[in-house]
Amino acid sequence: MSKLFEENAYLREFKAKIISINREEKTIELDNTAFYARSGGQPGDIGEIIAENQNIEVKDTIKKDNKIINIINEAENLDKGIEIIGKIDWEKRYKHMKMHSALHLMCSVIPLGVTGGQIGYEKSRLDFNDPDKEINKEEIEEKINSLVKNDYEITSKIIDSKILDEQPELVRTMSVKPPQIDGKIRLIKIGNVDLQPCGGTHVKSTAEIGSIKIGKIENKGRMNRRVNILLND
Ligand SMILES: [Zn+2]
Repeated sequence: MSKLFEENAYLREFKAKIISINREEKTIELDNTAFYARSGGQPGDIGEIIAENQNIEVKDTIKKDNKIINIINEAENLDKGIEIIGKIDWEKRYKHMKMHSALHLMCSVIPLGVTGGQIGYEKSRLDFNDPDKEINKEEIEEKINSLVKNDYEITSKIIDSKILDEQPELVRTMSVKPPQIDGKIRLIKIGNVDLQPCGGTHVKSTAEIGSIKIGKIENKGRMNRRVNILLND
């Protein structure tokens, strides 16, 4: 299966073939896909597939045994081998891309370990190990917005995961290991600002994020200071 979203995060519509189907669970797997599967704090894509002249809703996209699986509302008339057109709910996905890139910027301006995170449509968050309460809302908001304005290019590359042994500092998350597939890892680079392993979808330049606002900063335990971020649009 090829992950079309890894090469082109802007692909909204694509052709594919159904390679497996579970009618009971109403799930299908495609031979290639632009649907991002829920992982790394980024929600799975929703949207629709058009098959045999029917529009079938894609309610979620998840990972199962390293496969990308679409959860659909109707599997009755589908079969293995059928050609389909997949359409991503672009409004949702594009928001997730902007949010995801904004979280990488947040990560770059807060030099603390990341203990959790979640991307959402309305707001997103990262949790930091901040026992001394060093995070200052106004300061990070200003820093992130200035990085956004500077319009850094965002690129990805897939390289040997050995790099993580040589540069363990690349991994910012304290508990979650970055996804490694066949000894390879995907790195997301934002200009000279941020470099970290990530399987998610991103915008191609920071200016696309628009501008951000830091929401509530919540204390969720000693190792868990939660910083919420919103997009101004
Ligand atoms: Zn990421």
